Amino acid sequence: MKGVFTGTRGILWGPDSKVQRCLARTRRGTPCQRPAEVNPLTGRRTRCRFHGGLAGCRTAEGKAKISAANMKHGRFTEAAKEQRRGELNANRAAVAARRAELAHIQAEGVRLKRELARGRPPAEVVPNRHRPLVVSPVKLDD
Ligand SMILES: [Zn+2]
Repeated sequence: MKGVFTGTRGILWGPDSKVQRCLARTRRGTPCQRPAEVNPLTGRRTRCRFHGGLAGCRTAEGKAKISAANMKHGRFTEAAKEQRRGELNANRAAVAARRAELAHIQAEGVRLKRELARGRPPAEVVPNRHRPLVVSPVKLDD
């Protein structure tokens, strides 16, 4: 047949092709008619190269190369997410510590007011046992 591409498996495209079809569901909802390729990982001929038939990179080096080529800013890498989680937890701990300190100060204020209302000189201020030794700074920007 003139003008029809024939490879080692005969006619690859068209209604006359006898090769195994991909048959994955396309966006039109019809079965994909491309020839199925041999997947080098599984050795099976099930899907075309567009539908996962040809595996991409197999080595860690190749995967890293593809990852680097496709990365835009790294905001959603696991390392970046873990760092944000750590900062968030540190800020939450700092906020909780300051809330506890504030509650202590308010309670102490109430106690001192009562002492004054009774006409007694206020006793020494009770030190805050909730105050943490180290308070990490709360970053509001960034
Ligand atoms: Zn396909």
